[in-house]
Amino acid sequence: MKPWEAYFRKVEPYVAGEQPKLSNMIKLNTNENPYPPAPQVIQAIRGMNMERLKLYPDPACEELITAIADTYEVSKEQIFVGVGSDDVLGMAFLTFFNSSKPVLFPDITYSFYDVWTELFCIPYKRPALDQNYHIQKEDYYEENGGVVIANPNAPTSIYEDLNFIRDILEHNQDVVVIVDEAYIDFGGTSAIELVKEYENLLVVQTYSKSRSLAGMRIGYAIGHPSLIQAMQDVKYSYNSYTMNQTSIVAGVASMQAKEYFEECRNKIIDTREWTKRELGKLGFSFPDSMTNFLFVTHESVPAKELFEALRKVNIFVRYFNKPRLDNHLRISIGTMEEMKRLIEFLSGYIEI
Ligand SMILES: *Cc1c(COP(=O)(O)O)cnc(C)c1O
Repeated sequence: MKPWEAYFRKVEPYVAGEQPKLSNMIKLNTNENPYPPAPQVIQAIRGMNMERLKLYPDPACEELITAIADTYEVSKEQIFVGVGSDDVLGMAFLTFFNSSKPVLFPDITYSFYDVWTELFCIPYKRPALDQNYHIQKEDYYEENGGVVIANPNAPTSIYEDLNFIRDILEHNQDVVVIVDEAYIDFGGTSAIELVKEYENLLVVQTYSKSRSLAGMRIGYAIGHPSLIQAMQDVKYSYNSYTMNQTSIVAGVASMQAKEYFEECRNKIIDTREWTKRELGKLGFSFPDSMTNFLFVTHESVPAKELFEALRKVNIFVRYFNKPRLDNHLRISIGTMEEMKRLIEFLSGYIEI
């Protein structure tokens, strides 16, 4: 070991799903949208004044924030934007979780949360989901330094209604409660409507799933202006120009393309419901997903075996080699065509 290595920060990084570089594959492993971004987004990027790239982008992202504020009917002071919701969530952890009491989030949830708490040296505790993979709200009644709930949760796909979120807020009035709504557009009701009642609620959303813009890296948080101000202060103490000009342009155009957004999300919901019926016939079971993915297990064939068999035919799904998850697959909803090919393969494989 080199002497300076003693001073390195040692962390166990988040492991993202594979991004294989194959031309002929069915990619159902990272919950991306199978449809292209709105034509308006592509047009807006093409129409950009490239000369402008010599200048720094607007650090306040005024245009983007205005487009988001118009969409959700909130004020601009209630919005924070970042480089994907990962950036927004990381910034929120850094800003709000400075108590000596533990931050609470489920044992099975988005696996970046414990990576950030470790990185930022935030104490945390992970109450277990119940047998049916539901969050038990009573676990969040104890004293804590903050609460993080992904709703719908990942990788379980389970959505809890707003009464559930309200109950968690009622029991946690002295800390910031973050609700990560990466998948809310696929059927749930957003907690944004609770922001006016609860000054300590921060709702986080992303362009990566429902808006087909994972490659652009845009996420945002909506909350009381005092929360947003505190996050801005931290951001401007670290890196002012996080959002690049192209992302700002794409983000504005995407928010304005409302019809296209509705059309894509409805197609994904219909395809999801079809896939559920077909998987059910093949002996799979799964919670009633309100996301763009299914969390499935099979009555006789182990998940790991299915994962490997699918991989051999270039169908990529996600497998987690972790306790309570290791007999499940997380399958993103692709196009109808892609899901038909998945079902076709599985019916052949499972019969053998
Ligand atoms: C995908 C995802 C995110 C992060 O998405 P970004 O691409 O960084 O916006 C955050 N939380 C959950 C639960 C997710 O599934």
